[in-house]
Amino acid sequence: MPDIAVYPGSFDPITNGHLDLIQRALKIFDRIIVAVATNAFKKSLFTIEERMEMCRVSLAEFPQVSVDTFEGLLVKYARRQNVRAILRGLRAVTDFEYEFQLAMMNRRLEPEIETVFLMTGLRWVFLSSSILKEAAVHGGDIEGMVPEIVFHRLRAKFGLE
Ligand code: ADP
Repeated sequence: MPDIAVYPGSFDPITNGHLDLIQRALKIFDRIIVAVATNAFKKSLFTIEERMEMCRVSLAEFPQVSVDTFEGLLVKYARRQNVRAILRGLRAVTDFEYEFQLAMMNRRLEPEIETVFLMTGLRWVFLSSSILKEAAVHGGDIEGMVPEIVFHRLRAKFGLE
């Protein structure tokens, strides 16, 4: 059976930090499912279709990676997909507490599926989708922090091109 991990998140939008993490995870897992969340409480800048398309285009060179969406409980989705692990990224210490709570809750809901944390490359330690959007909306130069499609989509969204 292949080792599959699900990498859940908002991906609003996908950044080079996410890509770095996926490339690291591909050294460990045979397949990765990027699962874009339709989050009931979080307001997103891009629609689910836009977020998925940006993920697909940015990950086109990796046939082992697929892009999907899920609604509701992540662990139920993970179980349906027969995955071995949930993949999450850790940046600076600030991520730790929330990620720890989330992993513990998911373990309680589904003891069979482990959460695996990987650390990004140093270059991306301070990169988050929200900081990125904040910079982009004010016309800050975000080149080199995101895949090309995201660069253009962000600029278009904020009327900069
Ligand atoms: P969520 O809303 O679930 O936090 P995100 O898309 O913001 O969704 O993040 C998804 C996962 O990717 C999280 O585990 C987050 O810690 C991780 N992540 C986000 N940005 C980076 C980055 N620059 N480096 C490493 N991991 C990251």
